Amino acid sequence: RVADVPGLPTGVAEYFEGEGIEELYPPQGEAVEKGVTEGANLVASVPTASGKTLVAQLAMLSAIAEDDGDGGFEFGGDGTALYIVPLRALAGEKAAEFEAFERFGLSVGVSTGNYESDGSRLSDNDIVVATSEKVDSLVRNGAGWIDDLSCVVADEVHLVDDDHRGPTLEVTLAKLRQRVSDLQVVALSATIGNADELADWLDAELVDSDWRPIDLRTGVHYGEALHYDDGTQAELSVGSGSQTAAVVADTLKDEGSTLVFVNSRRNAEASARRLSDVTGGTLSPDERERLADVAEEIRGVSDTETSDDLADAVAKGAAFHHAGLAREHRELVEEAFRDRLVKVVSATPTLAAGVNTPSRRVVVRDWQRYDGTAGGMQPLDVLEVHQMFGRAGRPGLDPYGEAVLLANSHDELEELFDRYVYADPEPVRSKLAAEPALRTHVLAAIATGFTTTEDNLHEFLGETLYATQTDDPGRLKSVTRDVLVYLDRNGFVERDGGALRATATGHLVSQLYVDPMSAATIIDGLRDAARAASGGADGTDSGEPEGFQPASEMRAENDLPEDASVDPSPLGLYHLVSRTPDMYELYLRSGDREQYTELAYEREDELLGSTPREEAAEFEDWLSALKTAKLMEDWASELDEDRIAERYDVGPGDIRGKVETAEWLLNAAERLAGELDVAAATAVREARKRVEYGVREELLDLAGVRDVGRKRARRLFNAGVETRADLRNADKSLVLGAVRGREATAERILENVGHPDPGMDGVDADADATPDPD
Ligand code: ADP
Repeated sequence: RVADVPGLPTGVAEYFEGEGIEELYPPQGEAVEKGVTEGANLVASVPTASGKTLVAQLAMLSAIAEDDGDGGFEFGGDGTALYIVPLRALAGEKAAEFEAFERFGLSVGVSTGNYESDGSRLSDNDIVVATSEKVDSLVRNGAGWIDDLSCVVADEVHLVDDDHRGPTLEVTLAKLRQRVSDLQVVALSATIGNADELADWLDAELVDSDWRPIDLRTGVHYGEALHYDDGTQAELSVGSGSQTAAVVADTLKDEGSTLVFVNSRRNAEASARRLSDVTGGTLSPDERERLADVAEEIRGVSDTETSDDLADAVAKGAAFHHAGLAREHRELVEEAFRDRLVKVVSATPTLAAGVNTPSRRVVVRDWQRYDGTAGGMQPLDVLEVHQMFGRAGRPGLDPYGEAVLLANSHDELEELFDRYVYADPEPVRSKLAAEPALRTHVLAAIATGFTTTEDNLHEFLGETLYATQTDDPGRLKSVTRDVLVYLDRNGFVERDGGALRATATGHLVSQLYVDPMSAATIIDGLRDAARAASGGADGTDSGEPEGFQPASEMRAENDLPEDASVDPSPLGLYHLVSRTPDMYELYLRSGDREQYTELAYEREDELLGSTPREEAAEFEDWLSALKTAKLMEDWASELDEDRIAERYDVGPGDIRGKVETAEWLLNAAERLAGELDVAAATAVREARKRVEYGVREELLDLAGVRDVGRKRARRLFNAGVETRADLRNADKSLVLGAVRGREATAERILENVGHPDPGMDGVDADADATPDPD
């Protein structure tokens, strides 16, 4: 019983009882027995939606409480609890959940946004929610409150297995444990085969369970029947539609909802369109009306084709969900699905990664996905499929959950049973011993003074999961050595015997939170621009791979004439940051190679750094970066969002993602230019602002006013309001015209720009100010 849990401060048990949580679920009970509320480290490997969050809450609340000297506990100590989320999108959701504890006088903080800050305002919080990248960055920027941590929770810790982000989570946990004495670590994981290895690594107790609060049946649909894992079958004939449509229709008969997992965004959209024909006919008039409202809200988020397609599907009770959607879109879909208005969601696997949207049935329609590096369709991991399965069944709402795969042949039926239904998830393996991961973490460890010698460094790396798992300890050492050579050669680290020290540039790179190779690429490009402007060499260091320029040569180039006039173009700068490993480049599609090769010749003078030869392997990447840069240039030239989406075959969420990454990298470039005394800082700042606001140069001043934005800025400008000063003195009817007659918006804008009297009473929109109808 919650009331019997030891270590909980006064009032906590009563609070949970009030929320209907009186008894612990079995895995929660086990966690308490193993001491999670009394400071014990714990790894909990438990299925999705089985109450892991409560385990974390009990741990955090007891960890930040103090002994009241009377055998009890109360709040008011100086400990802080940190909750590490796997996705930025989940930080807000988790923090909102924890805000319920404000009743105990606790304060909850979320740390998202820019990486480069020490988050000092977070020091006042009792509970902080952040991603592992953010925590890593806070540590690098010297956040003192880290030393006050009493408990850290890592949600979805099995993601240490992720090639891309896993190493950051792993290193962050290792660092926190080494830096903060007596730190309690609670790691929450999906059910995996080798949770015991994670527990060994973290010196933790282990709760390893496959208990679920609601029954889950799994199976495969084939022919005219659903074949379940217990050997039973249920008739489910397909008729003239697809298997997915048949499952959705069957679930609807029971007033249940379905979540369909597919392997690409395009498939998600197409699937939602088709399934909206299934759901559309079953809606009540009231549902229709409410869905029409949601559809309207969706259209209001952005005027793109994606937005329209989504709204069309939602109006008929179906939706798609993928990372290309704007956040507001995703939230509207999730909410309508939880409200049971939207009956089916076709999603790419991002939704399985943690957004809390359970459903009566889950259909894993595609169990293979295209993998460029492997060169073809590859089966999904068992762990991934099981996490999708885990979204089936809403406790308290559904009698049970069902998760099914779809087979086209008898052979496939058997294969799917073996591969996914009866199979155990694959073991989680550390991905730390890879150069990109070590490059950034080794530099950070040195720059923060965490390690001061090579021996030190190897000792620290010995505390990672990688070290506890590997049978080849030499590998980590040899990759680390290569990385040190790289950092030294690029002037980020200095080595003196076994001693290691970061240079001023190295410190900055670590704080900016960019991959050292990104920084090297940027520095190389900026120096090339400076050299070209000062009439030096033309910058075609033929064939030398970027970022590998010997440091000695770089230092020599530092001696530039003081007055070098350096003016790299926005396209050149966008291309430069797009070439860094921190930017996801756009793919080249058929025909793109010719198109962008031509563009490369046309705009050759603007492109910075060395150009790989056309037959060289890295040319493809270099061209992808050019395509990415062109997207940014289009955006910064006020091309319509939906035109860009069409031209580059991307969603609005992708455009925003690219723009944000470019902003961040250009900010880094500006700081690096300053540090290294390369005179490009002004051009870089302007390119950054243009991509941030999505406007041409002449609108930079106006578009920076809150609530103005790129379209309104253009309309104001065309109506003769060209600067902030103009706007402060503008004829109100012009302003009202530029915002299409929306009075509240016009008032807000005038307020933001400091207009003495922003009121709109009695003002009529000037029709001349609105020449282009939306
Ligand atoms: P997980 O984090 O494992 O995915 P959650 O923590 O989100 O799962 O739990 C799923 C749901 O179960 C939540 O709505 C939560 O309030 C509820 N829940 C958790 N523990 C209990 C309990 N002991 N009794 C009743 N409901 C619980």
